[in-house]
Amino acid sequence: KPKHIAIYGKGGIGKSTTTSNISAALAEAGHRVIQIGCDPKSDSTTILRGGEDLPTVLDSLRDSGRPTIADVSAIGFGGVLCIEAGGPVPGVGCAGRGINAAVDLLHELKLFEEFKPDYVLYDVLGDVVCGGFAVPIRNGIAESAFVVTSSDFMAIFAANNLFKAISKYAPSGGARLGGVIANSIQTPYASALIDDFASRTGTNVVGYVPRSLTVAQSELYGQTVIEAAPTSEQADVYRQLARHIAGDHPVSIPKPLNAPALKQWAKQWGDRVFGGAAERRLVEVV
Ligand code: ADP
Ligand code: SF4
Ligand code: MG
Repeated sequence: KPKHIAIYGKGGIGKSTTTSNISAALAEAGHRVIQIGCDPKSDSTTILRGGEDLPTVLDSLRDSGRPTIADVSAIGFGGVLCIEAGGPVPGVGCAGRGINAAVDLLHELKLFEEFKPDYVLYDVLGDVVCGGFAVPIRNGIAESAFVVTSSDFMAIFAANNLFKAISKYAPSGGARLGGVIANSIQTPYASALIDDFASRTGTNVVGYVPRSLTVAQSELYGQTVIEAAPTSEQADVYRQLARHIAGDHPVSIPKPLNAPALKQWAKQWGDRVFGGAAERRLVEVV
């Protein structure tokens, strides 16, 4: 039985990069992997496929009625089957049906029976966990979810929103949280801040991914780090993350912070930087 795992996070935070490197690492270890991008940007699997374009499931549904798996998938690095769900039509929306329609079609076309994956990874936009983007954690599609965050407040804010959605749906069969993936780590401060956020919300950090030039350079080739720089330290970071996600990892229902508590928490971290005199320092700067 395949393991279905969703990876959420704010736009631009590194979901697709992280997910694609995990897929590549799992493929390299001999597993059969499907990666499904659930982000209107539909560039989830680009670095698994040398940067080529791939028609989205939703666009194909709109254009041709009933696409085949071959129409909407491509084989990427290590045999990873790549699919882009696509997203709502700009200015029209999808009323929560978008990702659902895409996943329904994949089931109808018997994708999972025929490809027989060991792992299915969903790379999901998580700025707003609206009806549409909550589908993988809400409908029992994925058994566990991870969130990618940096130490930036908006990324933490998006992670906290995901925790709200998980804690709402988990009791009725939705996905549980596998933990937090700390990305673009450059300073001890960044990992300490993310550690603290995780412990305040009853979760844990499952990996620290350094900000790395190797990632940027691999992206220029349209490749993952696993493919472009397999002997790099960064590749090992992704392999370790892949092993954790593939294994029997613990899951939990997170305890999100409410809005005032989140603000208060952020301000405390601000005080650490400004030595507890934020106002005075800001005045000095002005
Ligand atoms: P998302 O899928 O969350 O929108 P992407 O994975 O597309 O974000 O990443 C956004 C940009 O950040 C990309 O150019 C990517 O190469 C870069 N990036 C992501 N993680 C790292 C990292 N650890 N080090 C350096 N660059 C990174
Ligand atoms: Fe947009 Fe989400 Fe509504 Fe779909 S469900 S139209 S993605 S806000
Ligand atoms: Mg992406």
